[in-house]
Amino acid sequence: MFLCVMLDNFIHKGRRKKLVEIIKSKGITDERVLEAIGKVPRHLFMESFLDNVAYEDRAQPISAGQTISQPYTVAFQTQLLDLKKAEKVLEVGTGSGYQTAVLLEMGVKVFSIERQRMLYEKTRLFLPKLGYFPTLFWGDGYKGKSNYAPFDKILITAGAPFVPPDLLQQLKIGGILVAPVGEIDQIMISVLRTSPTDYKQQEHGYFRFVPLIEGVND
Ligand code: SAH
Repeated sequence: MFLCVMLDNFIHKGRRKKLVEIIKSKGITDERVLEAIGKVPRHLFMESFLDNVAYEDRAQPISAGQTISQPYTVAFQTQLLDLKKAEKVLEVGTGSGYQTAVLLEMGVKVFSIERQRMLYEKTRLFLPKLGYFPTLFWGDGYKGKSNYAPFDKILITAGAPFVPPDLLQQLKIGGILVAPVGEIDQIMISVLRTSPTDYKQQEHGYFRFVPLIEGVND
């Protein structure tokens, strides 16, 4: 009988510890973020042939021509969200579910949207196996999820040509949206909603993401 086990052994744990040190040395200071990265078994979110490189601080391929973001980038975006326990977070771009898992490790409630049906199905079945229970949707993240709004925090994990107006509308007053904005390279921005009509934007350097594409892919 073929037994499929999802193994997280001492080698993975050792590599993960080193990864936490690496992203700390690159400037991540939020201990809760570092702790979450230290807990999520990243190698299980990618194909098994990538096991050896899963804890390198690099983006890696997942299915459907998409990528699992670089751990430093995941940590950087998560840190910008300034999460408080039990907050409602909307993630756009579920992908492998790795970022989703990091958010859940921080004690927030996660709603996540993925446009690629195959990835959505795969991640929907996979995350509960690791004990992660987000609310996942197959849909177009440009539209957000108005029936679950408002959100304390919104995180876009694909390069957006502009910040989708629907997402700004679905942000709580006092809430923060984090997004990489731009066509080829993206500038990381955080947007604080200060009133029903006012938003305060800050910029945090350049990154490179796969694009945020309008519409869904069946
Ligand atoms: N957070 C993911 C990163 C995946 S890469 C992880 O940790 O693995 C970005 C993801 O955004 C891809 O899976 C891509 O299919 C998805 N995406 C792109 N445009 C989208 C849209 N309009 N709505 C929802 N998801 C989108």
